[in-house]
Amino acid sequence: METPTIPGLDIPVRNIYCIGRNYASHAKELGNKVPKIPLVFLKPLGTICYDGSSIQLPKQSSDVHFEAEIVLAITKSGKDISPARVNDHIGGVGVGIDFTARDIQSISKKQGQPWTIAKGFDNFAPISSFTELTPEQDLSELDIKLFQNGFVKQHGNASEMIFPIPNLVTFLSQLFTLHPGDLIFTGTPEGVGKVSSGDQLEVLLNNGEQSLKVTVE
Ligand code: ZN
Repeated sequence: METPTIPGLDIPVRNIYCIGRNYASHAKELGNKVPKIPLVFLKPLGTICYDGSSIQLPKQSSDVHFEAEIVLAITKSGKDISPARVNDHIGGVGVGIDFTARDIQSISKKQGQPWTIAKGFDNFAPISSFTELTPEQDLSELDIKLFQNGFVKQHGNASEMIFPIPNLVTFLSQLFTLHPGDLIFTGTPEGVGKVSSGDQLEVLLNNGEQSLKVTVE
């Protein structure tokens, strides 16, 4: 398999960092406490797929959920990036779905085990094309919406994040040197739900500046 690339930026995907529980309303709907520091996990590269993809439901799960998320693409390396310099390192913004096998994740949570399997099946991270960021873009104004079979199920705005985007990038860059091709899934707003075979999902960034459509097989 070829290395996946970031549509619109044409650079290879390097790491897929994900943030959990970044909207208080979503943490509550799953019965989780609001975290004091960001919850970080990774998805494997085989999860990446694109607009128009079909998602095969894994036979190991009977409860796969969509999680629509604003996704950042890093295009400039950095360590200990200050919040004020974050825009210099984010080359583009898009949307993605962090598909999650909720039944497998629940078992992992109870057993204190990582979420890799629940989050990591093939095609579990479809991404849209990415819009290049302007230096003055206000990252707190980004807006995301998910439609399941034409009905709005999720609507979130970056202003509602527990850890705003600049703080997230700063936090991650203090732990890991960020490099071009790193993607950051910034967490999902409330309204996550189960998908069924035949579902059509559509995610919009800023009411259609970018869009992502996938079908569940
Ligand atoms: Zn997520």
